[in-house]
Amino acid sequence: MSSNPEVITINLDTPLYKGSISLNTGLFINGEFVRPQESQDAGKIDIINPSTSKPITSVHLGSSLDVDIAVDAARKAFKSTWGLHVPGSVRGQKLQRLAELIEENLEEIAALEALNCDESYDFDEHLANSSFILPFFTCFVLNPDRSLILGKPFAQAKQEITIGCIATLKYYAGWADKIHGKTIETSETKMAYTRREPYGVVGAIIPWNGPLAMFAWKVGPAVAAGNAIVLKPSELTPLTALRVASLINEAGFPPGVINIVNGYGPTVGSSLSSHPLITKIAFTGSTVTGRKIQEAAAKSNLKVVTLELGGKSPNIIFDDADLEQAIKWAGVGIFTNMGQACCAGSRIFVQEGIYDAFIQGFTAVAQHLQANTGDPFSSPNTLHGPQASEVQYKRILSYISSGIFDGAHVQTGGEKHSEEKGYFIKPTIFTNVTPSMKIAQEEIFGPVAAVIKFKTEEEVIEMANNTTYGLACAVFTENISRGIRVAHAIDAGTAWINTYNTLATNVPFGGYKQSGIGRELGEYALENYTQVKAVHINIGMKL
Ligand code: NAD
Repeated sequence: MSSNPEVITINLDTPLYKGSISLNTGLFINGEFVRPQESQDAGKIDIINPSTSKPITSVHLGSSLDVDIAVDAARKAFKSTWGLHVPGSVRGQKLQRLAELIEENLEEIAALEALNCDESYDFDEHLANSSFILPFFTCFVLNPDRSLILGKPFAQAKQEITIGCIATLKYYAGWADKIHGKTIETSETKMAYTRREPYGVVGAIIPWNGPLAMFAWKVGPAVAAGNAIVLKPSELTPLTALRVASLINEAGFPPGVINIVNGYGPTVGSSLSSHPLITKIAFTGSTVTGRKIQEAAAKSNLKVVTLELGGKSPNIIFDDADLEQAIKWAGVGIFTNMGQACCAGSRIFVQEGIYDAFIQGFTAVAQHLQANTGDPFSSPNTLHGPQASEVQYKRILSYISSGIFDGAHVQTGGEKHSEEKGYFIKPTIFTNVTPSMKIAQEEIFGPVAAVIKFKTEEEVIEMANNTTYGLACAVFTENISRGIRVAHAIDAGTAWINTYNTLATNVPFGGYKQSGIGRELGEYALENYTQVKAVHINIGMKL
């Protein structure tokens, strides 16, 4: 494998960010950037700026051979310089240092993230001047101190990296020396204890909608628990993972502990999920791909699988809700990150008594976003950006056509944003939706809300649960008993009462039904990255 000194420089000179960003476009294996193996060289992939549909740069694509080499490096590290050979406190220090280095380079990394996957931003002038609070955070984690998220360019990308990535790495840095088993009394002559041991080499496959947050959700708990990791970023958004890779050695990680192999799903992704020496695979992405990964894992070596998949989450608004708040949070629920959020509140159930008033206010939220759509780098007034890729853009437009064909009413939006060159779709609200329509059943992953009127609590619980998904749900009501009752009755891994999209690093996140297996974040995630060994000790039993 030849080393790859291919560093490119991206110059950004926009009203919101000026600077040069240096980036290595190779694979990061065994502590160095390398070119893919020549015999299977899959070439390079253009990385597109979705605001302009023009390439930003191109990166090298790996193959199954590169995965083999990365797994080998990870195994060697696990067996010698990492794993339980290193005290948890030391593993924690290195994770903490990586988080600090990302923090020191936050501006640049946030610019790169925004350039590649185009977050939409929030700006305090809009909050001050508008009667609506607009989507002001991504699907990942709400900063409890709202003042931190107001204001300047890159607010959203910076916030997502600060909370979704840096805080997550620091959180798991703190856990690294607190992972332990139990002692278990068995009899007077025998005792037993358990250990939580790492699996060894973990494979991780992540999507494009929150690249660095997803990186940290996998790397943080895996590495804190003593595993080595081989991670494949999305082929659409590998840039920030590669930028962070350049900080891994400086953070003090031995070579091979964290490896990054760019590439396509059917090549690099599938090699990871079927690799015989990977003992655990962690995936975030679509349910279709999750199923393939589980099959490959079962057929290869029965590796342990955790899956964070799609959703069609119900947002239920009762007559007694605080209407203004419910409207604002419903906007946050579906339009954040241009609807590209796994837990997006895409089915909005509104009780008949407030239905008309809700539609009026909610339409105004969508129209305000439509009026402030554009390239997030061009103006601080931009509130709604493009979809992340052409494929996604076309897919969303076809769902909109299917809603119209099925007889739903376009309350607002329902089309591309014709004044913009990139992949822009107007925030869209459908009314007259029936639960069996495709737009009410399938995950659109775009700024498209399907609103359904309901009469009773029993009826809405049944409709809300009538889906193969179970990632999240929300209930808006001033009756706390009803809020808790309905939250408990919905089949979902996360339930919000009078809020939406507010995740926290120390609270588990994951899906019921076909939305996933296992949990990320919080202490729960560590269970997914460790296996339990029971040790029995004879303290006096004679034969
Ligand atoms: P995707 O499933 O197409 O791709 C996700 C990742 O899987 C990418 O890295 C891709 O290259 C890889 N991949 C594709 N085919 C593969 C294969 N055969 N074997 C192994 N890997 C393969 O999903 P996407 O379009 O990138 O992301 C959007 C989806 O992710 C949505 O459905 C969304 O709901 C889901 N998502 C879920 C969460 C969550 O936490 N539950 C978070 C973000 C996104």
